[in-house]
Amino acid sequence: MTQPNPACTRFLPLGKASAIGAAIQQAESILCVSHVSPDGDAIGSLLGMGWILRSLGKNPTLALADKPSEDFAYIPGFHTIVGVTQVQETYDLIISMDAGSADRMGDVFRTEYHANIPLINIDHHITNTEFGTINWVEPRCAAVCQMLIYLAEALGVPATGNLAVALLTGLVTDTLGFRTSSTDACVLQAAVQLTEGGASIQEVVSNALQRRTFASLRLWGAILNSAELMDGVIWATFSLTQRNQMGATDRDTEGLANFLLSAREADISATFTERINSAGQTVVECSFRANPGFDVSTVAVSLGGGGHAPAAGCTLFSPLDTVVETAVAALRRLHREHMSSFAQSSQANHG
Ligand code: 5GP
Ligand code: MN
Repeated sequence: MTQPNPACTRFLPLGKASAIGAAIQQAESILCVSHVSPDGDAIGSLLGMGWILRSLGKNPTLALADKPSEDFAYIPGFHTIVGVTQVQETYDLIISMDAGSADRMGDVFRTEYHANIPLINIDHHITNTEFGTINWVEPRCAAVCQMLIYLAEALGVPATGNLAVALLTGLVTDTLGFRTSSTDACVLQAAVQLTEGGASIQEVVSNALQRRTFASLRLWGAILNSAELMDGVIWATFSLTQRNQMGATDRDTEGLANFLLSAREADISATFTERINSAGQTVVECSFRANPGFDVSTVAVSLGGGGHAPAAGCTLFSPLDTVVETAVAALRRLHREHMSSFAQSSQANHG
């Protein structure tokens, strides 16, 4: 069996591993949580942590503020995930995964009950606010699921069977099927290890990345038809009215921002999706994507969100039109500033 390469396992410092191991060992009741609008890395790392903890003799509660898509039901343990109403007021330990800030846990984390409970924050967002009592934040990892391979290894839990399927899910989805700039030798080695552990790349790719509803295909057609392009920025919007007309779900627009970026004329893409959050409020979810050289996480942070240089986002409460206007202006400014500094440096090189 392939063992993780020391060049990759160094992403988990020894002191961090023992602090996490000790906190888990001491805890009887553990709440595990990931972010609102859960994607493959959120669901995979949540279920993966569930399998790691069970191997260590624990019986954790796995909770998400928003209901995860049934597309992920192939991951063993999927139906053990509970919603906000089944979260208790007290636990010995909370473990948060793939959440860049405390608010990303949604209403699973209630400050009035949970603020004084020890919290392990495991994440790979460069914008992470280090909101835990133990923070293990590693932006060099492509997915939190990749980080959990190193944690499992350190805790003596084999990354095989159910755990391998869960972890391969986040590795595949956060790298868009091993196609992102974050796909390096450690990611590929992690994939080899999980494949040897019994997980199937084909199964994960077809369930988590490629399955679409008919409604979502029609929706993409409509949204693409109204996409706009200006100053190297391409964007598209999707209102609640459109969604209701087309019978689309929250997941149906996933991947659209990545697809928009395939336009040769664009360096930055954005989608603006209106939806109802778990508290019943209308919000606009903004997804930003960028080609290498552009850092859209700066724009996301300036609007109260977060993410990575090539993929970031934020959630805003203003009307859709206002959000689009503000965000597109910021993205166009980012593009302009990049192009003018690029022009200046190439002028200097030729001068
Ligand atoms: P996506 O566009 O796929 O929803 O998210 C892209 C990246 O931006 C992910 O890493 C995600 O965690 C981050 N992101 C998306 N929306 C938000 C948000 O509302 N707040 C924060 N802090 N990060 C977000
Ligand atoms: Mn992730």
